[in-house]
Order: sequence, then C-alpha cells, then structure tokens
Amino acid sequence: MRLSRYFLPVLKETPSEAQIASHRLMLRAGMIKQSSAGIYSWLPLGFKVLRKLENIVHEEQIRAGHIPMLMPTLQSADLWRESGRYDDYGQEMLRIKDRHDRDMLYGPTNEELITDIFRSHVGSYKDLPLTLYHIQWKFRDEIRPRFGVMRGREFYMKDGYNFDLTKEDALHAYNRHLVSYLRTYERMGLQAIPMRADGGPIGGDYTHEFLVLAETGESEVFYDSEITDLKFGDRAIDYDDVAQCQAVLEEFTSRYARTDETHDEALFQQVPEDRRRVARGIEVGQIFYFGTKYSDAMGATVQGPDGKMTPVHMGSHGIGVSRLMGAIIEASHDDNGIIWPEGVTPFHVGIVNLKQGDEEADAACDALYSSFTALGLEPLYDDRNERAGGKFATMDLIGLPWRITVGPRGLKNGVVEVTCRRTGASEELPPEAAVQKIAQIYATL
Ligand code: ATP
Ligand code: MG
Repeated sequence: MRLSRYFLPVLKETPSEAQIASHRLMLRAGMIKQSSAGIYSWLPLGFKVLRKLENIVHEEQIRAGHIPMLMPTLQSADLWRESGRYDDYGQEMLRIKDRHDRDMLYGPTNEELITDIFRSHVGSYKDLPLTLYHIQWKFRDEIRPRFGVMRGREFYMKDGYNFDLTKEDALHAYNRHLVSYLRTYERMGLQAIPMRADGGPIGGDYTHEFLVLAETGESEVFYDSEITDLKFGDRAIDYDDVAQCQAVLEEFTSRYARTDETHDEALFQQVPEDRRRVARGIEVGQIFYFGTKYSDAMGATVQGPDGKMTPVHMGSHGIGVSRLMGAIIEASHDDNGIIWPEGVTPFHVGIVNLKQGDEEADAACDALYSSFTALGLEPLYDDRNERAGGKFATMDLIGLPWRITVGPRGLKNGVVEVTCRRTGASEELPPEAAVQKIAQIYATL
C-alpha cells in the first residue's frame, strides 16, 4: 500500500477523552472512530489488525478440531425465556421490539441460540463430541463503557460451545480450549495467564480467565511469579490426546494465579514471599464448563449408548477479539507509539523515502515494494511529499515492527537502512539483503 493512496487519518493532538495509552494510540493512529459511547467504526488500519487477530483465532480453533459457523447478532427473546436468562441478564442486555411487537435482543452471548441449533439437529451420542464456534459482534450495554475498545458496548468476540456425552469428555474439551488459547495468545505476541475465575451469570465451577498483565487492567490479580516463566512455544500437541491436554492444563494452572473474585489469601500466603505478586490484568478470554445447565433447561438431550436419552454436557469459551487489540497495545508501546508484534502487525514493513521525487530514491523504493509484494509480504510505502521527521513520526506511531529508510546518500553507497521499531537499532544493508532479512523474520512465524 502506498500511503498517498491509503486512508490513515492520524491525529496530531492527543485526544483528551482517552485515559489509557491503547485508547489514545488507537485514536491517534487513525484505527478507530467512536460513533457513540462504546461503539466504534474500525478505520482501515484498525480493521486490518482486527482481521489478523480474527485469523489467528480461526486457525487455532480449527487446529483444535473446533468447527466454525456464524450465528446472527439479533436473537429472539423466547429462547432466553426458556433458559431463564431473559430476566436474569438485566440492563446489560439491549432489548429491541420488531414491527410485530415481538421481543428481540442483540446477543450478549450465544448459549441459548447454539443449544437450540443443537437440539434441533443432534439426537445421538454418535454425533459427539462436537464443538462449534463463531466470531461475531456482541452487545452488552455496559454501565461504564471506557478505555476505547477495551470495554466497549459493541465488541467482537469468539465464542465456542462444546457438546459432550459425559462430564469427563466435556472436561477434555475444556482442556483443549485452554491449550488452544495459550497458542492463540502467544501467536499474538502476548502472555495471557490462565487464572481461576468466578462463574458469573454464565454459571459453572470450572472456569479460568486469561489475563494479560498491565497496569491499566481492570482486574486485580494475585499470582506466583513462577507462572510468568511458562511458555507454550511451538511444541507439538495432539488435541485428541486426553492425557497430553490434561498435562498442559496442570502445567499452566498448578501455581497460584487468581483474580480478586476467587482470591484466597491463606492459600496465597503459602507461595514463597519473594514470588508473591499482586498486580493488575486485562481479561482477554474465559473458558467454562457448566455441565447440563442449558441442556436441562432447554431439553438438549441425546440418545446414549444404553438407548436412554441424556442431557449433554456443555461448556462455553470466549476470546475478546476486539479487546485484544487494546491489550496488545497496552503491553507493547512506547512514548512514540504502538509497537506491533510481528504476528499481528497491519503491514509487515514500512518504507520511508527520504527524498520523494528523486529518481534513484523513488526507483529503489519501488523495487523494494515489488520485492516484498512478490514474497507475499505487505509493505506500507510512505511516498508522500513530507519531511523525513514527519514520516518517521507516523511510522513510529502506527508501530510497524520494521522500517526501511531509503535516501540518496545511502543509495550512493548501495545501502538502505533497516530499523527495528522495538529496539530502535538500525543497520545498513544492500536493498536485497534488507528484504531477505525481513522476509526471514516473517518466515519463522
Ligand atoms: P468482563 O468481566 O471484562 O466484563 P466478562 O467476563 O463479562 O468480561 P465474558 O462473558 O467472559 O466477559 O466474554 C468473553 C470475553 O469477551 C472476555 O474475556 C473479554 O475479553 C471480552 N469482553 C467481554 N466484555 C467486553 C466488552 N464490554 N468489551 C470488549 N470485550 C469484552
Ligand atoms: Mg469473563
């Protein structure tokens, strides 16, 4: 993409309504625009990152054997009356009437809808196990929408639902989700720690929240610092292997790590003092096993091997896709702007032409652009007639992990400058070597 043809409405001024870095930077970098409280338009740059996050979530869900689908945003209130949650959910639910005076709602989550689909089409244990998921907009009429996309009213969420014959099978599904979530967050350049959580309105005893440590996080968290040394990495995992998934769950959840809702001070005191940490975190996902709560209420049963009808065991598993963008920026920025991890960056590399209109510099930038494109990488080429300082500031603000600076002086010596956004380190390389270096970094992702 050439910046001169793109739509990147960066702001010079720091928006006064934004209290935290991620919100401020998303507004300044022209990624989002608020349309009303807690509701945003995703401008091209923000939309690009949202798609990247969504793709990673899809890839990891499909790898775990979960099946993508899409359910509507608007739901009929009748289903929610069956589960009893139409009244329980309270003011967070946006209720709507259609022209026939029927009660509708904008889905805050989808347990009822998916249970209805399940009971309409599945009748035998032979069709289990089954895990269906979608990534769809949700609406929760939060009392205090704030921090930009972090606590929106409309937000983008992956929610998945497992259906199993027994509790044991459903707990394997739970573990499978935990493993797939660890991989998902790591691919986004994040450490998200599974912490024992509270069931809330969705219900259930088995539940973990995934928290990204950040001073601006809304949850208070208590943990054993050893947990931050754990990495899932690129280890091979067979998602059908019950023991393997269970072992990962044990590895990642055996140390003390809880949110304030489930914090137990006496247990926490057993952690050696030098490893006890009290901090803040951003919840970027949650997994639940809730047994037969919805299948009992809504009659989702299957015929078991013994011929008897039995309610299915279920769980639900969410990832806050839009909130993740804020969480990543909270975890990865500096005074000059965002620093995207390579896995989610909107463009792979920025090209800055120091002397637009100079024949050689223009030709060298065009050649770099074609080389990257041919390798399947997306460059953002700042081809505007701007001062170098302005171009650097824009690149730093929007946070592309790698920048190539091209100027007549370097070209005389046959080199361009490659700069790493995170460390600020620069090195001079011939253009082909610069392309190779950056291509190699992305090839290992
Ligand atoms: P919170 O405690 O932050 O209100 P929740 O526990 O009610 O969230 P879940 O029902 O667990 O949320 O939804 C799954 C994920 O969706 C959460 O882990 C979070 O990342 C995201 N999410 C929930 N509410 C919002 C919101 N208002 N804005 C953006 N993302 C949200
Ligand atoms: Mg939650």
